[in-house]
Amino acid sequence: MKPPRIVIVGGGPAGMVLAYQLVSNGVPVRVLERHPDFEREFRGELLQASVVEALQQAGLFSVLIERGLALPDIERRMYAGKHRTVRVPGPQERGAVVSQPGMLALLHELCSRHPHYQLDFGTTVLDAVQEDGRVVAMKTRRDGVEGRVDGDLFIVCNGRNSHLRRSCGLETESFETTADALWLRFDLSDAPEALPESLQVHMFGKGLVVVFQPSTNHRLHLAYSEPGDLNRLRKDLPELRRRLLPTLPETLRPHVERKLDEHTDWQVLKIIVDRVRRWHAPGVLFLGDAAHTLSPSGGQGLNLALRDTFVAANHLLDALQAERPLDAAVFERIQAERQPEVDRVQAGQTRAGQMVLKPLGVLHLMFTVLGAVMKLAGKKMQGAGGVTAVEPRYLAPFARSDAPANSGG
Ligand SMILES: Cc1cc2nc3c(=O)[nH]c(=O)nc-3n(C[C@H](O)[C@H](O)[C@H](O)COP(=O)(O)OP(=O)(O)OC[C@H]3O[C@@H](n4cnc5c(N)ncnc54)[C@H](O)[C@@H]3O)c2cc1C
Repeated sequence: MKPPRIVIVGGGPAGMVLAYQLVSNGVPVRVLERHPDFEREFRGELLQASVVEALQQAGLFSVLIERGLALPDIERRMYAGKHRTVRVPGPQERGAVVSQPGMLALLHELCSRHPHYQLDFGTTVLDAVQEDGRVVAMKTRRDGVEGRVDGDLFIVCNGRNSHLRRSCGLETESFETTADALWLRFDLSDAPEALPESLQVHMFGKGLVVVFQPSTNHRLHLAYSEPGDLNRLRKDLPELRRRLLPTLPETLRPHVERKLDEHTDWQVLKIIVDRVRRWHAPGVLFLGDAAHTLSPSGGQGLNLALRDTFVAANHLLDALQAERPLDAAVFERIQAERQPEVDRVQAGQTRAGQMVLKPLGVLHLMFTVLGAVMKLAGKKMQGAGGVTAVEPRYLAPFARSDAPANSGG
């Protein structure tokens, strides 16, 4: 059987990890990415343990470490209160901080060894083209010129707010969120000792949450979240300093104080928790944030996006090897396997969004009681390992001799 022409919309983590699995198992793939390279907007970069383990088994993680593109053994710790005395119980699993541009570039290098792989940078997908109720092409724009890319199956991995949901006729359900997050990035290469060793989430009550984490190249990523207009707050530097600095530990505060100015890298993340009810339509399948956008709570966005691709590759490649069509039955199985985890994580995030609105005293009490109950039950807080068992059967381990030359990241 002639292999289908698979087109992936979006060269982010979901798109590239899926491309790697398909291409390295002999399936032709074309990726369409709107940016000119992988250096897109910076992101939080915590990868949970289950995904790190999969990347480790495939030999990818060690290449990332060698290139200085990953920090292993990063624990996520949660605290309530100014004095940081109440540590929220679990999760104890350790993940890793991985440079997104670095990981995407590595996957692109490995895919590029196969003649049946193509990635078009600078190509924005505008709309889905349908014929007889089936998506048969994507309308694109590149260098100001409109075009069309045909294919047999389109896998949409273009992230949050995907406009293709609507143009493919998919219905979105959204959940209530309470605050956005202002992400800031600082270069601490002149004071690397000040970088935290873990990802820390500090909850101060009434919706105020501050998150900070180390990143590669001695960067610090910091998120400030509270109800209100964070775009306005970012422009009012004295007010931002007044609110942010007291929330930081003394080791970090002077460095942020010194470096926080109008040149600081920043972005306001509109917090969204939503999902499409059906992940597919004839000729098209949605994965990752495009199918279900998560809030930053629990650091689950990358985790779920990559686990989607492991499950999708399992079903797509099983079908191709058995010479079965890539049709609604296959897509249905992919969604059915992933939906319980998405539902559970989104329900937890919605609850967490409500919980952080409580006053600090209530948070203290809740965490103290929760800690005692979990200790009695011998339980860890669930999250990092994933809700369902996911085994990436087609994430090809590559021989060390196949590793691309170290380009220095
Ligand atoms: C500021 C911030 C911090 C975050 N922190 C964390 C964290 O610490 N841990 C965590 O797990 N998650 C975090 N997330 C969420 C995480 O980044 C996402 O869940 C994850 O990147 C989803 O991967 P994806 O491939 O589905 O989508 P994306 O990463 O959004 O990738 C989509 C890709 O599609 C491309 N694209 C978009 N539209 C088009 C188009 N029309 N045509 C062609 N290409 C297109 C984009 O350029 C992009 O490359 C954070 C997100 C943000 C914004």
